[in-house]
Formats: sequence, C-alpha cells, structure tokens
Amino acid sequence: MSEFDLIHQYFTRPTRHTNLSVGDDAALISITKGMELAISADMLVAGTHFFADCDPYQLGWKSLAVNVSDMAAMGANPKWATLAIALPEVNQPWLTEFSNGFFSCADTFSIDLIGGDTTRGSLTISVQIMGEVPAGKAIKRSGAKVNDEIWVSGALGDAAMALAVMQQRFNLARSDLNQIENALHTPQPRVALGQALHGLANSAIDISDGLLADLGHILKASKLGAIIRLDQVPISDTVHKNLHLKQVKNMVLAGGDDYELCFTAPSNQHAEIANLSKTLNLALSHIGQITANTDLIVHGLDNEILDIKETGFDHFN
Ligand code: ADP
Ligand code: MG
Repeated sequence: MSEFDLIHQYFTRPTRHTNLSVGDDAALISITKGMELAISADMLVAGTHFFADCDPYQLGWKSLAVNVSDMAAMGANPKWATLAIALPEVNQPWLTEFSNGFFSCADTFSIDLIGGDTTRGSLTISVQIMGEVPAGKAIKRSGAKVNDEIWVSGALGDAAMALAVMQQRFNLARSDLNQIENALHTPQPRVALGQALHGLANSAIDISDGLLADLGHILKASKLGAIIRLDQVPISDTVHKNLHLKQVKNMVLAGGDDYELCFTAPSNQHAEIANLSKTLNLALSHIGQITANTDLIVHGLDNEILDIKETGFDHFN
C-alpha cells in the first residue's frame, strides 16, 4: 500500500467547514468574522503516553480528544485538526480501528481533519487542533481574581486509578475497574462547558497533569494562591471507597489524564454555574477559593492541612 493510498483510505473524509482539505500541499480554511483562531498541539509517544499494544480505536479517540480538551479550556469551538503520524509498519486492521476512533471523536465535536504527515518510524501521534473563539474573549490561565470560587467539572482520579491498576501498582476488582477505565481510554472533553463559561469564568485550564499541577498553572499565571478542600473535590464511587488511602488521595489531587476543566469565577456567578451544571447535565463542584497570597493550601478529610509535596506534586515551584 502506497503512502498516498494509506492517506486516502484512512485519513480522508468529507469535511464540514473547510475550503480545501487533504490532498494538496496545504489546506485552506476561512475564519468566521469576529473570531480569533485558537491553536494547540499535543504529541503522544508509544511507551511514554500510551502502551504500544493498546486498543487502537481508543488511541485514535484519545489522540484527538486531548487536543479538543485544550480548546475546551480556552472556551474555543474546535473546528480543524491535522494529524502527523509515524508508524512502524502498515497494519491495516490497526489503521482501520485507529482512524475509526479518531473520526468518532472528530464527528462528536464536528472537527474536520484537514491534513497532516505520514511517515515510517516508532509509533508517534502528533495532532494539531484549531478552533474559533470570539476575539478577545478566550478564557486564559492568567485571569483568576482574589476571592474567585474554584470549580471542577466531572470527577477526578478515575484515570489515575485505572492507570495504576494497569501498571499493577493498585488492586481493584474487575467490576470496579470497568466503572473507571473509560476515563483513561476515552476521555470526554468538556467543549460545551468551556463555551458556556464565556462571561462567567475568569480563568480556566484542563486537567491533564493533575488538579494541583494544573490549578498551580492558573495560580502562577494569575500571581495568586488558593485554598481547596479535598472533601469537596468530586470523585466517583469507586475512588470514594478507597479515599482513606494516601495513594488514592494522590490520584485525586495529583493524578493526571482526567481532562476535566478547572475554572475560577466570581462568587456572584455561583447560582448561574449551578444552573449550568443542570443544563449541561454535568457535575460542577465548588472546591475552594482564590487567595491574595501565592500559596496553594489543601485541607484534608479531617480538615488537616495536607503536605502537598507528599502527593507526588512537584511542579509547583
Ligand atoms: P507533501 O509531500 O506535500 O508534504 P504529503 O504527501 O505528505 O504532502 O501529503 C499529501 C496530503 O495528505 C497533504 O494534503 C497532507 O496534508 C495529507 N496528509 C498526509 N498525512 C496525513 C494524515 N496522517 N492525516 C491527514 N492528512 C494527511
Ligand atoms: Mg507538498
């Protein structure tokens, strides 16, 4: 199979909002008037970000989904993506599954795959995504204000727990693993939430490296601090059953790969955000407050102050 045939068969689909797509030297797109282009890229390397023998459909979904999550965190509407992929061999069943997973995510969020590059090499997947956001209205990390409430969508810790089980660092019944493993393999980027946060949130980030690390990015960019309470951090029943274990607290606070949004908003928007949670049918939890100093303080389950360095959280400084 030639490189061109491979691109045609697996990575060429009809587009929705693209002037010229896969097949020429460059793709052509038009930006909607009054909009800014938001651009982000994420690379996934076999052995580092995923297991080389993982399910190719889930890998295809996740390669795009982690990029879509960055659009969500900016309040942007994802529209176009490119895919650069290095493949050790042409394995057609693998490519079929991978591209089905990728396009399933693309269809879910109405994203056109408009180009890329295909080469032989150790399995590496690099996706660039582009989306539109009303000019000047993107929700940045740097916008948090003193006394803002800190919110988190969905539940945290499932992805880190599923990974720990797969790596045999943690034991869980198969039925419990079934409840949480989708969080790791097929994350659901919070695009509708991100866009609904225009006019509500002062800052936002998606949680890809763990709550403390990613909230830490907001604090650093905004030159502020925070107090959060572990007992307010949203978790699944499966994680809840084990929350007394230090290892599990660390999964909730410092585990990555959840792709939920963490955002801050003035307290006078509290009711509006609670309403939004109902409209979107998505849990939104108020976990703490932004403070004027630059410390990040976490209260544990008995209201004690946790030593967050012990959580494996080492990016903060
Ligand atoms: P060039 O040699 O001009 O860089 P290529 O032969 O690499 O072009 O690619 C041919 C066309 O296929 C281009 O439009 C490119 O964007 C697209 N393409 C290549 N690989 C992929 C891929 N994995 N997914 C989507 N489009 C791709
Ligand atoms: Mg060319």
